[in-house]
This record gives sequence, C-alpha cells and structure tokens, in this order.
Amino acid sequence: MSTIGRSSPAGREGDAAAGRGDDAATGSEDDSATGSRPSAAAGRTAGGSGLQSKAVASGLQSKALGPEAGTCRHTGLATGRQAEITAGQAAVEAWLSEHGDDLIGWRRHIHANPELSRAEHGTTEFVESWLVKAGLEPRKLPTGTGLICDIGPAGPRLALRADMDALPLQEYTGQPFASTVPGVSHACGHDAHTSILLGTALALAEVGDLPVGVRLVFQHAEEVMPGGAIDMVAAGAMDDVTRVFALHCDPRLEVGRIGVRVGAITSAADTVELVLDSPGGHTSRPHLTSDLVYAIGTVITGLPGLLSRRIDPRTSTVMVWGAVSAGKAPNAIPQTGMLTGTVRTGDHTTWSLLEPMVREIVDGLLAPTGVRYQLNYKRGVPPVVNDEFSTRMFEDAILGLGPDALSDTPQSGGGEDFSWYLEEVPGAMARLGVWSGEGPQLDIHQPTFDIDERALAAGVRVMTNLVLQAR
Ligand SMILES: [Zn+2]
Ligand SMILES: [Zn+2]
Repeated sequence: MSTIGRSSPAGREGDAAAGRGDDAATGSEDDSATGSRPSAAAGRTAGGSGLQSKAVASGLQSKALGPEAGTCRHTGLATGRQAEITAGQAAVEAWLSEHGDDLIGWRRHIHANPELSRAEHGTTEFVESWLVKAGLEPRKLPTGTGLICDIGPAGPRLALRADMDALPLQEYTGQPFASTVPGVSHACGHDAHTSILLGTALALAEVGDLPVGVRLVFQHAEEVMPGGAIDMVAAGAMDDVTRVFALHCDPRLEVGRIGVRVGAITSAADTVELVLDSPGGHTSRPHLTSDLVYAIGTVITGLPGLLSRRIDPRTSTVMVWGAVSAGKAPNAIPQTGMLTGTVRTGDHTTWSLLEPMVREIVDGLLAPTGVRYQLNYKRGVPPVVNDEFSTRMFEDAILGLGPDALSDTPQSGGGEDFSWYLEEVPGAMARLGVWSGEGPQLDIHQPTFDIDERALAAGVRVMTNLVLQAR
C-alpha cells in the first residue's frame, strides 16, 4: 500500500519508481500541526518525468529570473549564465530519470549493511567503487573509512558533505531492506545522505563543464566524539574550499521541502563531570571534616543557577545534571562522590566561554566546603552556525525545485560535527524533508525511523543546484 499518492496534489509520483513500502502508513502523533499539503516538488519521483523537468524549468524561470529582462532576480546573472544553469539542471534530470532506481538501491544497500562509527569500511568501499566506475578519482583516508573526491576545475571549490555511519540501535522498521546487522541501524538517515552525495557526484560527472570545482566529502564517524569531521579537516578536506554545504534528514518536514535557517541550526553540548573527595567522618561532627554530600548539594543547585545569571538567556544555554552518587550510610559522611551532567548552548560565543565559567563557579562554590574535587570538562561540538551568504545559496538551490520547496527550520538542541568544517570555512546545513506527508513523524535515533525515498532525488537536485548556480 502506498500512502503517498493520496497526499500529492499533482498525483504523478508513481510509487513503484520511488519504491516506498508501508512503513509510513501508521498513526501520527502531531502531524496535524505541520501537516501542510506537500509541495509541487513533493510529487517528484526518483525516476523523473517530463512533467518534473518542466516543473523544474518553470520553477527556475518564475523564481530565478528577475523582474528585469535578462537578469536573474537572486543572482543578477545574465541570461546566458541562466541558460547554462538550466542546461545543467536538464542533464541532472536526465541522470535522475535513468538512475533514480540506482539512487534508491544504493540507499537500501547501505541501509541493510550499516556500519558503526569508524568502522565504515564497506560503505566507504561501496561509494569508492561507484565513483571509480564513473571515472572519478576518490581518495580514501588512510584509516579506510571516509573519502574525498574532487570534480570539476581545479582551484577554489565548494565542498558537499555527507556522513556515512550508523547507530548502535536495533532497527524495527520491518522493511525488507532493514538492517542485517543486529543492534546496528541507520536511524539517523546517513544512508540517505551518502546516497544523495553519491548521486550528486555521478550526476555532476554527466553535466560536463562545471562552473566551479566541487569537493565531495564522504565523512565517517559523525555520531561519536571526537567526530570524523576533525579527521577530515586534518586530512585537508577544507583545503581550497570556499564554502561547505550539507543536508540532514528531517522527519518533521515533508518530502520535497527543504528547511534553511541563517545562524545557529544545532547546539553545542559539553559534558561536565565532577569527582569529589573528603576525609569523611561521622555525621554528628561535620565541623571536623568536609561534608561531601552538602558540597555536592551546593553544586547541584548552584552551578545551573549561577550560569543562568551569568549568561544571556537568549542564547538557549541550559545546564542539567544527569547523574549523582555519594555515600551509603545515614550517619557517615562519605569520602567520595560523583556528579555529571551536560551544558548546552545555541550560541557559539557562549560556547567558547562556558568551560572557564563552569570552572570558576564550581571553584567558588566548593572552596568554602573544604571538599577536594576534580572537574573533567569535555567540550563537545560547537553549534552549526549557518553563514548568511551560504544560506542564500541554499535558498536559490532549493527554489530550483519549485516555489513551495523552501521552508524555514528551527534551531535544534542536538549537536552535529558539521560545525567543525564551519570553524574552517563558511557554509550551511539544510534540513531535508523526509516525512511522507501522512502517518507519524518519526524522530531520528528512533528504531522505527525511516524516510520517504522521494527525498533522495530532491537531495540530488538541491546539491547539484548548489554547484550549477554557484556564484
Ligand atoms: Zn544522529
Ligand atoms: Zn545525523
């Protein structure tokens, strides 16, 4: 059964080509809140059609061409340049018509054979083999996981990044192409990201002359810290790169729509661990020792409270303890204790200030208690902060799919190691709609997470448009 045809205004999607099963046909928790009709672009299939190509062309003309004849409204480009873009997009559509089933097949192959962070050897080899087959020259990282591949002219280039790792989660989608590895699954959609970037590579290889050089970054180990992005940067992935772009699946957004946001789109999450020790003693004589439980209590309430008075609340900074332990007996002051939690922020400047501030406050709270401590502060990833110009480039690329494809998106409280690339060069991440429009909006990192596979072709269109429309 397909749930997709009913939701499409154009009714031209052809689920056989998209290959969707029944996974999306279950109840919804809150789709009414965001259950808008799918965009015109949502009706596309990976297989493509004349109708779709026309939709792309008309979308471009109505959106990209400006009110003054001969120039593009967004880019101010001459119509000759616009003609090149349109020709490139036609070549991409032709590639999608011929290889849309491959795109889905790759995603299903990767989905069925998930690999954990830093063990993505099979996935890396799979991607490498297809790139080589297309006449490209990928460079694997020495570890055998993760690869880089350049296309187009030498010199300054745009980077497009996909992550490839799976999660240590048992899958419960019931799909015929579900994970064959017990306890491991692609519940974050990285199988889709990898397939989209592979499709983008092969489609761009068909286009021929590109207006700008492209670097494809197939990254390993996004789900762990320290993330694979750090290895990629160390391997030179951002050398000669002017801007970097990425997509991430968003199950809150309908397929065919892509969400952008200028500024922070994810958050930073650091870990605070406090290990305390005291000589211990009898609870009748706290004045003769250091009262460790009392000291922990002051930090439990004092650190989150004082942070909230030191940091601008508009930065969405929040400190929450997740675990505490100390003592056993009601009448003995314990000798050791442990307290651990996370501190998150949506603001890059605040992130850089957090560690010294936490250290200063903890020291100030514990000094009068006489309890000794060790503070282990582990910095996570910085927030992904989308550069304005790069976000505008994404918007232009998304509008190439049709007038309804562009959406805004809220900042997420989660982290993404794409931010490490943005410490090197400007760029942007966008949210790729993968919800079918019906049924539950499954969250990522859930064992039942799945995507509407029409999102794969939409992803290829956006990524290729970024290159074809590059300024
Ligand atoms: Zn994830
Ligand atoms: Zn992810």
